[in-house]
Amino acid sequence: MSGQGSTAAPIGLMGGTFDPVHFGHLRAALEVRAACELGEMRLLPAATPPHRTAPLAPASLRLAMLRSAVGDAAALVVDDRELRRGGPSYTVDTLAGLRHELPHTPLCLVLGADAFLGLDRWHRWQEIFSLAHLIVIPRPGTPLALNGPVGEELRQRRSSRAALRNPAGGAIVEQAITPLGISASAIRALVASGGDPRYLVPDPVRELLLASGCYGKAGQQAATAAGTEV
Ligand code: ATP
Repeated sequence: MSGQGSTAAPIGLMGGTFDPVHFGHLRAALEVRAACELGEMRLLPAATPPHRTAPLAPASLRLAMLRSAVGDAAALVVDDRELRRGGPSYTVDTLAGLRHELPHTPLCLVLGADAFLGLDRWHRWQEIFSLAHLIVIPRPGTPLALNGPVGEELRQRRSSRAALRNPAGGAIVEQAITPLGISASAIRALVASGGDPRYLVPDPVRELLLASGCYGKAGQQAATAAGTEV
C-alpha cells in the first residue's frame, strides 16, 4: 500500500462490475499505471452497481475471477471494500473512505469513456472532484463528447499528467491506451450462445466462468467442448 506522507505517489482506482474481468480492463489498468506513474492500481469490484443492471455472476465469483486474473502481479491490487460494505456501491462513498485512510495520497479514478459520459447520473457526482482526479481512457466506439454537464467539467478541468500529483484532486486527464474492443457484455453473450471466451479473458478466468455456468447453460457446453472440468 502507498505511504502516508505528503510525497505519496498517486494511486489509481478502477471500479467496475467485472462481470467478468477481461483483458480490456487489465491492459488498460497496467498501461495507465505506467503512463501516469501511479504508485499502485487498485481494481474495485462493485457490490450492487447503482447505475446499471445487476451483475449476472455473484459477487464471490466476480471477486474470485478478478483475483485469479491479477494473480501475484505486483502492478495490480484487488480492493474488495465495496463488496465488504454491501448495499449500493456509490463511488463517492468509496473515495471518501479512501481519502480518510490516505489523506496525503492523490486518488485517481480511472474511467472508460462510456462510464465517464454517464457520470452525471452518479450519486453526488460533483463531489467526486473534491476527492479525486479522473483519468479518462478511450473506449472503442465511444467518442468523448464535450457537451452537457460532463463535457463542461472536461473542458474546465482538462489537465496534463503532472496535475495528478496534487492530493486535492479535481483534474481530468485523458490517457491514451492500446484500444481493445472487448466488453464484458459481449463476453457474456458469447458464452451464453455456446462460444468460448479464450483470449478475451485470462485462462484462469475462462476456467472459472465456464465451470460456474453463470453466463448461461450454453457455457457448460462450451466448457465440455473445451475440455474444462465443470
Ligand atoms: P459491460 O459490457 O457489462 O458494460 P464492461 O466491459 O464495460 O462491462 P465494467 O466492469 O463495467 O466492464 O467496466 C469497468 C471500467 O472499465 C469502466 O470504467 C469501463 O469503461 C472500463 N472498461 C471496460 N472495458 C474496457 C476496454 N475494453 N477498454 C477501456 N476501458 C474499459
